[in-house]
Amino acid sequence: MPADVDILVIGAGACGLAAAVAGHDAGASVAVVEKRDRPGGNSSLSTGSVPAAGSRFQKAAGIEDSPERMIRDLIAIAKETDDPALVRRLAEVSAQTVEWLVDTLGARLQLVTAYRHIGHSVPRLHAPVSRRGQDLVDDLLAAVERRGIPLAVGNAAQDLLVSGNGVDGALVATGQDRVEIRARRTILAVNGFAGNAELVRRFCPEIAGATYFGAPGSTGEAILWGEKLGAAFGNMAAYQGYAAVAYPQGSLLSWTTIEKGGIIIGADGRRFGDESLGYSGFARIVLGQGGKTFALFDQRIFEIAAQEEEFVELWRYGGIRKADSAGSAASMFGLAPDTLTAEVDAYNRAAAGTAPDRLGRGDFGLAPLQPPFYIGRVVPGLFHTQGGLRVDQDGRVLRMDGRPVPNLFAGGGAAAGISGRSGALGYASGNGLLSAVALGRLAGLAAAREIAGIAA
Ligand SMILES: Cc1cc2nc3c(=O)[nH]c(=O)nc-3n(C[C@H](O)[C@H](O)[C@H](O)COP(=O)(O)OP(=O)(O)OC[C@H]3O[C@@H](n4cnc5c(N)ncnc54)[C@H](O)[C@@H]3O)c2cc1C
Repeated sequence: MPADVDILVIGAGACGLAAAVAGHDAGASVAVVEKRDRPGGNSSLSTGSVPAAGSRFQKAAGIEDSPERMIRDLIAIAKETDDPALVRRLAEVSAQTVEWLVDTLGARLQLVTAYRHIGHSVPRLHAPVSRRGQDLVDDLLAAVERRGIPLAVGNAAQDLLVSGNGVDGALVATGQDRVEIRARRTILAVNGFAGNAELVRRFCPEIAGATYFGAPGSTGEAILWGEKLGAAFGNMAAYQGYAAVAYPQGSLLSWTTIEKGGIIIGADGRRFGDESLGYSGFARIVLGQGGKTFALFDQRIFEIAAQEEEFVELWRYGGIRKADSAGSAASMFGLAPDTLTAEVDAYNRAAAGTAPDRLGRGDFGLAPLQPPFYIGRVVPGLFHTQGGLRVDQDGRVLRMDGRPVPNLFAGGGAAAGISGRSGALGYASGNGLLSAVALGRLAGLAAAREIAGIAA
């Protein structure tokens, strides 16, 4: 790893890898440090789906879309945001970003036309055929490798080097040693703070205590370092949650089970909320139950969910159990059989339209539910936080007075996102990865431009 570079990128997820390639291709020397033993972070765990408005792939598929339409969609779902300019900027560069990923980096992304995702009025997600973020990460890593950009894993940045000129690189732990890597520009691509319980309590209290379900690297260094530098933050209370992490298996119980008509019940054998709020919005409501919650669905729903690999694995490992009746499903987990039977009957009446649902659910999927039933214990999870450092149109980190912190950039989960000011309902599909790849690219380009300006 060089001790002196033009651009030091901290973090090797989608944001860091995109920033590294953009900076390198614009003429700068670049190095990437990654604290974990393998690159990828949350980007590897995602579905690798990146939204773009007006891409040539949409045009070829006859889909009319535009940044203006995407902005309308994003604001409709986010409601309020600390940074409307960032929403506009990311929508405006989204098509060029996806085309750059495909054409310049060789990412194997295809427009998803089969269905529209949450928050999109037209199909605009561009995803790997496998829907595995790991495939996107592998393509970005190959692009980094082809260019000979140094990338050191197991190298955690421990702090930023700061002088009167601004940020000058980072102090990096390499095994037993700590080395200073000097850089003319530093890009924070370290994701958010969902893996830091204290920061979650401080900034996202409504989901504090939920099981963190992302990669272990997201421990909030961008926030801790930014705070010391007087940086401004945005959208800090926004997050994406998941209402049904199988317990104790720790894998996701497919939300298809609930969307198609299943229910979530508490320790008293009764439902406690409108499950059609969605897997993210409902997570906080499950958290409010204090730990003992269960998902219940029927055979027809089981068969649909069984098309998903992770669901089948969970079934094989005993995370879901089969029961002849609601009463016997209750007995498997020490719930009151009569209460659960009555609850399922009441839900079925609402689903059949013969009585209103006491919790306001309007979409019942395939319900009324019919025996045999399936039941599994679930806990709420936290996928990722959405807020972070305020940045300008090129990813420069801003102070509270709006001036940039000299030489410092941020993107992806480290930066203020585009998913609303707070809570879990402002997230449109792909918002996380768009912030990662688009801001990463913009930051890499702007950092290289500034360096070229210095050199000239
Ligand atoms: C289960 C799950 C599913 C998701 N699905 C989607 C989806 O379908 N679409 C979508 O848009 N978003 C999705 N997201 C969110 C999305 O994955 C993130 O928003 C996005 O990947 C963030 O990219 P990033 O590059 O900022 O962070 P990451 O990909 O997490 O990369 C950050 C990297 O920085 C490293 N790092 C951290 N601190 C340091 C340090 N001090 N020194 C060196 N390295 C450090 C980390 O180890 C990590 O490798 C999902 C998240 C989860 C958990």
